[in-house]
Amino acid sequence: MSTKTDAEWKVVLTPEQFRVLRQKGTEPAGTGEYNKFNKKGVYHCAGCDAKLYVSDTKFDSGCGWPAFFDSIPGALVRHEDNSHGMQRIEICCAKCGGHLGHVFKGEKFDTPTDERHCVNSISLKFKE
Ligand SMILES: [Zn+2]
Repeated sequence: MSTKTDAEWKVVLTPEQFRVLRQKGTEPAGTGEYNKFNKKGVYHCAGCDAKLYVSDTKFDSGCGWPAFFDSIPGALVRHEDNSHGMQRIEICCAKCGGHLGHVFKGEKFDTPTDERHCVNSISLKFKE
């Protein structure tokens, strides 16, 4: 996990990245740069540059955020999140602890895992 303090994160992240990654914020639906985005490559953590997702696991869920059906093995940690009156699974970067989004299961999207990783674009950095 990260050894950075909030003050140190504020130096390396934009204010919006800090709000999402470190304060578990959510970018507005449909606004993220990777929502409608289909290039081949790897999505890294915007906080620490760890590899999180490959483009082959990305699919169009229509929900307004980038959706993936699986991560790179070991890249994420999952936490129960009972905030906002919902039972959700929060996903964070395993390396720096940055908040990425949530996992939803059993939605019957036609994917191998039947999971939807709903990830904030701003938490990601794409590299071809
Ligand atoms: Zn990270």
